[in-house]
Amino acid sequence: MSFTKLALIEPILKALSAEGYTTPTPIQEQAIPILLERRDLLGCAQTGTGKTAAFAIPILQILEAEKGPERGPRPIKALILTPTRELAIQIGESFAAYGKYLNLRHTVIFGGVPQHSQTLALKAGVDIMIATPGRLLDLMNQRFVHLQHIELFVLDEADRMLDMGFIHDVKKVIAKLPAQRQSLFFSATMPPDVSKLADTILRKPVRVEV
Ligand code: AMP
Repeated sequence: MSFTKLALIEPILKALSAEGYTTPTPIQEQAIPILLERRDLLGCAQTGTGKTAAFAIPILQILEAEKGPERGPRPIKALILTPTRELAIQIGESFAAYGKYLNLRHTVIFGGVPQHSQTLALKAGVDIMIATPGRLLDLMNQRFVHLQHIELFVLDEADRMLDMGFIHDVKKVIAKLPAQRQSLFFSATMPPDVSKLADTILRKPVRVEV
């Protein structure tokens, strides 16, 4: 199986090849076609399985097809919520790598640092936002972030979100998302509380387990 079988656009195939990727991992092989069909996804996958590319690649391809203005403000269309700063940074690097031949913009938002550089990036306009829940809520409350144009929502590492006590923050963010959206939910484990949260976010999801 090669990436060329997954109906990906040339600039993404070129970027994957530049990364040295030749073969999709099992989660990528299963998730990418489902996501390009605009279905919701429940992914049972750990870090190390290639799950970041499994969601980043289709998000880039979907947003590239809807491309807005080259310059200036644009609404945030994709939101990835992840529990830690380290994960947020890694996911941002993945979007930068797979999207390097596209003109989409992303930004990474996390706590523990001054917010100024983050709000500057937001004011310039981004298509894709990768965020930890606390800082995102802060910026939403200050009206630096508006989520009413989100088309794609990813909840990454849902089990860790719950373990770290982020459930209330996560629910507050979800309450602000448009009902009409495509949602992706990833968790390494699916205990009942995680499964219950997935039920509140996803609509007729396809379940993928690796
Ligand atoms: P993740 O599970 O998203 O944290 O990815 C784990 C690691 O696998 C990352 O370092 C990726 O760069 C790498 N990776 C993801 N997909 C592929 C692929 N198809 N071929 C080779 N390496 C990959």
